[in-house]
Amino acid sequence: MKTIFNKQKAFFNSNQTKDYEFRIKQLNKLKDVIKNNEEAITQALFDDLGKSSVEAYTTEIGFVLNSIEATLKKLKKWMKPKKVKTPLFMFGSKSYIMQEPLGVICIIGPYNYPFQLVIEPLIGAIASGNTAIIKPSEFTVETEKIIKKIINENFDQNYLSVVTGGKEATSELLDLKFDHIFFTGSAFVGQIVYEKASKHLIPVTLELGGKSPTIVDQSANLVLAARRIVFGKLINAGQTCVAPDYIYVHRSVHDDLISYLKEEIKNFYPDYASFGRIVNERHFDRLNGLIDKDKVVFGNESDKKTKFISPTILDQVTWEDHVMKEEIFGPILPILVYDQLDEIIQIIKDKDKPLALYIFSNNKQTVKKVFNEISFGNGAINDTLMQVANPNLPFGGVGMSGMGVYHGQTSFLTFSNQKTYTNKTTKFDIKLAYPPYSKRQEKIIKKFLK
Ligand code: NAD
Repeated sequence: MKTIFNKQKAFFNSNQTKDYEFRIKQLNKLKDVIKNNEEAITQALFDDLGKSSVEAYTTEIGFVLNSIEATLKKLKKWMKPKKVKTPLFMFGSKSYIMQEPLGVICIIGPYNYPFQLVIEPLIGAIASGNTAIIKPSEFTVETEKIIKKIINENFDQNYLSVVTGGKEATSELLDLKFDHIFFTGSAFVGQIVYEKASKHLIPVTLELGGKSPTIVDQSANLVLAARRIVFGKLINAGQTCVAPDYIYVHRSVHDDLISYLKEEIKNFYPDYASFGRIVNERHFDRLNGLIDKDKVVFGNESDKKTKFISPTILDQVTWEDHVMKEEIFGPILPILVYDQLDEIIQIIKDKDKPLALYIFSNNKQTVKKVFNEISFGNGAINDTLMQVANPNLPFGGVGMSGMGVYHGQTSFLTFSNQKTYTNKTTKFDIKLAYPPYSKRQEKIIKKFLK
């Protein structure tokens, strides 16, 4: 790892990655190798997570192809130094912001969208003119293999390189003096990454998870709410960082919502053919341990051999239940009931700031209150997940759900240093700020700076 790192550092210092044409060429190449390997990537995602080809394309392959396309179109504009206004007291100067690449980037990925969550930040790293070492999740073995193959066989390792391994390997990787670490995963490992990065004061982006609430009030369109919640909760068998973790429903619409949720699950997955599987036995056992059989009102079928857990609704859940003690990250949907909005706002505020929050309501005041009072990374009104799909929206968490943002132009900015400078005329020189100082000078300065 150290050898690859040193070679990447030397390659970065040769300045080749800074060139606009170079970046465009590499992005096009990345697009081509993904397209040429689409079938193999789809197969790997199926083998690792039972991911259907439609989900594999929309949430992983097509997602990053679309992102490359958008980046190719906008990169020239993003790279251009931006002129900003200069105050009058600096008369004779012009001011600029130029984006410069940081250097060697480390990208560490999780298992749930194992392809997209390393390639999407990689697009930003390339666009910003960096080199990168990528460490995909070791849990999704087939996807790890294909990522390694397509990158290491098509790109110069001195420029982009995939390394593999678990905790130990990642820990070793984190001892290197990267210029930025981009980590996606759990808050627990995020803390380890942050601590390691602090040793060399390496900037980090931490894309973490947590329990994302979904509120359904008495004014909501319940049929649509149920459909959109089921979609967001059960895509990838619930293994989505921004999936609705639990529902807070107003008591008056509780029964109706549950019957619509059941109906929509049956509509979406009549035979579970396109329903994903749990990544491994450890998570399969963990998830089964979260199900309190006395609270099940739908589902609770499972098969350890195929790591299948059916969509399971738990009703009358409280914060004392196991399922509310950790991020679920699986197809289990707990329902909690509320009477007063203020009460649940306070409860949610007392917990860690969520990565996502969803509200289903047709009452503008309610929505305004929730958005104004609760802090969260990203969210949606009368929808779930789709905020992630818009490249014009920066994506990230807040507090324990993460720090930093990416997607679209924010990926480019994340992997760039905003170098700022002024350019001053040599035709004249205003001596106002120079010593020796006088009372008259002070008076003039006070007119400008107040
Ligand atoms: P994880 O934190 O267990 O693993 C992520 C990566 O860290 C893996 O590559 C792993 O090899 C490495 N790692 C594990 N232990 C390590 C250690 N001790 N030292 C150094 N590296 C270590 O996460 P996961 O289980 O793969 O993914 C699930 C979590 O990721 C959930 O919490 C989910 O919410 C979160 N997530 C967040 C986003 C987001 O964009 N915010 C996206 C997907 C997943």
